[in-house]
Formats: sequence, C-alpha cells, structure tokens
Amino acid sequence: MPLRLAIVEDVATMKTIWTRFLAGSGHDFRFFDSNRERVDDMQTYGPDVIFSPAVTHHCPVSMLIEDIKSRQEFNDTAIVLSTSLDSQAILGSLDVSCEYILLTKPFTPKQLESLLVGIESRRGGVKVERKPLAAIVDDSAIVRSVMKKQLESLGFDVETAEDGFAGRQLINDILPDISLIDINMPGKSGFELAEELLATPRTAHLPIIMISGMVNRREVRRGFDHGVVDFLPKPIDTSIFRHIVSKTLQKKQILYRGSALVLEDSPMISKVIARMFNDMDVAVNICPSIAEFRAHLSISLPDIITLDLSLPDGSGLDICRELRRNRLYDLLPVVVITGGGEKEIMLESLRLGANDFIEKPFTREEFTARINNHLKNKHLHDEITLKNRALQELAYYDSLTGLFNRRYFDDQLEKFMQETRLHKRDLSVLIIDLDHFKMVNDEFGHQTGDTVLKEVASIIMKQNRGAGYPCRYGGEEFCVLLPDCPMSRAGHIAERIRMACESVKMADGRLRQTVSVGVSSTPEVSIIEELVADADLALYKAKENGRNRTEFFVRCKGYPSEV
Ligand code: GH3
Ligand code: MG
Ligand code: MG
Ligand code: MG
Repeated sequence: MPLRLAIVEDVATMKTIWTRFLAGSGHDFRFFDSNRERVDDMQTYGPDVIFSPAVTHHCPVSMLIEDIKSRQEFNDTAIVLSTSLDSQAILGSLDVSCEYILLTKPFTPKQLESLLVGIESRRGGVKVERKPLAAIVDDSAIVRSVMKKQLESLGFDVETAEDGFAGRQLINDILPDISLIDINMPGKSGFELAEELLATPRTAHLPIIMISGMVNRREVRRGFDHGVVDFLPKPIDTSIFRHIVSKTLQKKQILYRGSALVLEDSPMISKVIARMFNDMDVAVNICPSIAEFRAHLSISLPDIITLDLSLPDGSGLDICRELRRNRLYDLLPVVVITGGGEKEIMLESLRLGANDFIEKPFTREEFTARINNHLKNKHLHDEITLKNRALQELAYYDSLTGLFNRRYFDDQLEKFMQETRLHKRDLSVLIIDLDHFKMVNDEFGHQTGDTVLKEVASIIMKQNRGAGYPCRYGGEEFCVLLPDCPMSRAGHIAERIRMACESVKMADGRLRQTVSVGVSSTPEVSIIEELVADADLALYKAKENGRNRTEFFVRCKGYPSEV
C-alpha cells in the first residue's frame, strides 16, 4: 500500500535528495515549506506521514507540530523528525509533546524504506508482506551458516556479519526484527556491540539476544544490565528460542509447531520427509552427513530428530548412542528411519535409546501420527521448562522497574558477606531514596509516580555501568550492592546516580525528581550484618542535611565526609 508523505523541507538540495530516494518507491509525496500557513495545504493533501527537520527556517518546529497535532484530521498521521544531531541533545531541547519517530541524518534509501515499512505495518488494516528479518553476528563461519539455515527454516530472512564492526554496520542498515550476537569475538566483543547498539537511538529499540558457548552468571547479569532481551547458551534450545522469538516479535507471530533435524543422505527420501514435516508446520533442517548433523546440533537444539542408519561418514546408530549419553538431549525424541524388515537393527536402535522407528516405505499417515505423538510429549515437557524459567525470572525481578528485587538483593548480600569475610575484600551498599516522592503521587497521580520510579530505575541501571547489583528495595527505595568496591568508588557511583537524576526532567518533562543516597562500606561498618542498616543511617543523614545529597556512614568523625 503506497503512503502519502508530506515533507517539510526548505532546502533545495534536500528536496533533490528526497526525490531521488523516493523515486520508484511507489509512495506519493509532496514538499511543504516550514510555514504555519502551509498546514492548511497539508491538511488538504491528507498525508499518512509528515517528515520534518528538527530545525526549520520559518518557524520553530515545536510550533509547527503543535499546529498539526491540534487538528483532528492528523490524528492518524505519523510524525517523523529528522535530525543530524544526537537525539539526546535534540530530545532535551525540543518541546514536542506528541509521539514522533526520529530519523538521524544522513540516512540511506534503505533506512528510509525500512522506516516506511515500519510505519505501514503499524497502521491498522495494512498488511505488509514481509518476512521477519534476523541478523546473526558471529565470528565462526559454521555457526553463521547453521544458524542461518535454522532461522530460515523458521521463516526468517537472514543476514550475517563476521565480526562486531561489520555487525554494527549491518544492524544499522537493515534494522532487523531480531539480532543474535555472539559474545566472544575477536576485535569488538558481543557486549561492546550490544552496548553501542543500545546507546544509538536508531538501534536502541531492537531486540538483541546474546549467544555464547560458555555462559557465566556475571556475563548474563552484564547483558541484562545493558538491556539485552535474552541470553541463550549454545546449543540453542528451539523450544526456548520459539518462546523468545514470539515474545519479541509480538506483531509478527511466527507460527510453527516445532523444528526437526533430519539426518538423511538420500535426496529423494529427504524431500519426502521435508514435505511431510512442512505439511505439519514443522520447520525442517536436512543434514546429509554425520559431520553436518553434529555441527547443527552443537548450535541449535531441535524438537525432534529423525535418523537414517547408513550414511557416507558412519552409522546412525552411533549418533543414537551419542545422543543418549548426553544429558542435553535427554528429552529429545529420536526416531530411526530403517529399511523394511531389519528387525535386529530396529531392536538395537531401541536398546540404544531411540524412542521409535519408522520402516521404509512409510505412508504419510503413519509418519504424521508417530511424529505428532512425539512432538506432543516434547511440547508438554517444554511447557513445564518454560514455566519454571518464567517463575525463576519472576522470583528475582521487580515487575515495575525490571531491576532485581529485595529477595535477590538479600541472597546476594548474604553470599558476598561471606566472601568478604573470607577474603577480606571490599563490599559497599548504596541506599537510594526518592526525595519528597509522596508529593509526586499527590500532585500528578500514582501512575506518574510509577513512571518516575521506572525512570529513576533506568538511571540507576545506566550509571551503575554493570559494576554491581541494582535492586528495588521496596516502595520508592532502591539499593545497589557493590562487591569489590571501596567506599571512595561507591561514593562516585552514588554521586553519578544522584547528579543524573537531578539533571533530567522526568515523566515527559513535567517534573524533576531528586534522590538522596546513603553509602556504607567495609571495613568502615561496625558489623558486616549491619551494612544495610548503616547505609540507612547515612541516608537518614542525607535527608536531614537537606536531601539531594550523598552521605557516608563512618565510624570516626571527619572521614570521608562528616556524618
Ligand atoms: P522523603 O524525601 O523523606 O523520602 O519523602 P517521601 O515523600 O519520598 O517519603 P515517604 O516515605 O513519606 O513517602 C513515600 C511515598 O512513596 C509514599 C508512597 O505512596 C510512595 N510509593 C511507594 N511505592 C510506590 C509505588 O510503587 N508507586 C508509586 N506511585 N508510589 C509509591
Ligand atoms: Mg543412507
Ligand atoms: Mg522512603
Ligand atoms: Mg522518599
């Protein structure tokens, strides 16, 4: 469906560029000066989208947008502001109250196109026939090729990049619906790439999933701190992947009932099996050799496996034995496809742990019925796994702010107190309390209060820069547990958080919210169990001394600031 685009543009060169970019796009477009009188003409034109530079010649853009948005006729019109400046700077100085999309100059025709596709797909009723787009960034060619196949079989268009630099370029160019990024890459690590993407306005909203062979808790935490959507260890379990993908792509629900990995060297039989799986809405990946099958399995876990027994590089029976020795594949249904009448081999495969076998030649009905049974069981197991996972997540996260909750804080505190005692390391705690927060609720309502809590939470998360564990302690109190962090550094982090809160307007620019911070650290605290209580005392002091300040708990006077 072509769109009608009104382009506010005073500069002749820019008009030429717009015309070149939009020629052949199928969209209808017209130029308007940044003159308030032109809003009438715009209304007559009836655009779906209005593009405007953030800085205009004839009148301030905020006034122009205000004019436009005050008219009911423009209710469904999307506003796109283009700017060559960093969006943070623009957002700070622009006083535009409506929702708008930012387009950073210089932009490429491809970027413009994907932005328009985005607008089209958001407009109700207009169906955009576009496959969801995935980007894979991984330094291993084999991982890239296997994941690409896997994602394509799930209905994705896939683009790949072999390192963090190329990945950055790729993701910035194609704005994928989902990005899968390897953590360990030479040059730019996956975390560095994710951090950059999340700090760039154009790519900040894109869902990122980090993938790694080795996973440690520290990395997971660091990833979540930076806003990564999820974290998957290799091999990727397709049931969990499916869950995440559908969560991430709510608009473009991917419908498929599972994925099958087929070890089969005969092209003809592969084709038959692939067609039957397709008809069952099961994604299929065919591997004609054991080597390829192993590579596939090391990266991605399917919902079901079918095994041919005689292959150019070995026997399917060996694979059967291997699978059952590995706990990862415990619940994975394995179905052996055998030639007719090979009783001995069938028995052997069952003994080795295959769940079932299908004799050649087989009918569609038989194949479908058997496979369906196994898939159903697998899905039941998956549901339980996913529920457990969700419960685990819920148990440790605060649902309003996404920070860790009190329970997590207490668990971690306990753990680090023991370590601190054993290894004589430093441990600090910040308690952060919003100043006169009751007034925000009273004046602006509870919902605005919640928004402010969320904004303060993301400031804490950001300013903390992955150093410790930011938690919501309860109500309007937050705390940060900082292992291996002496009082001086804890004080820096506290001040960074306090100043960041002080300097921004919150709740759509309607109000300012300051915080007071209490800091306590070993070895300054009296008893380690009282770390939190001591931070609380320091917080109390900060409130007493006028709020919007940081105070430290100290045993003796005069260090590092008087208490
Ligand atoms: P002070 O500077 O002394 O901390 O003053 P204050 O008003 O922030 O402190 P007080 O303890 O008197 O009030 C805290 C307020 O926080 C009262 C309560 O309604 C509000 N609050 C606690 N939890 C939430 C929440 O989840 N959402 C909202 N909107 N408000 C909350
Ligand atoms: Mg064979
Ligand atoms: Mg309080
Ligand atoms: Mg308070």
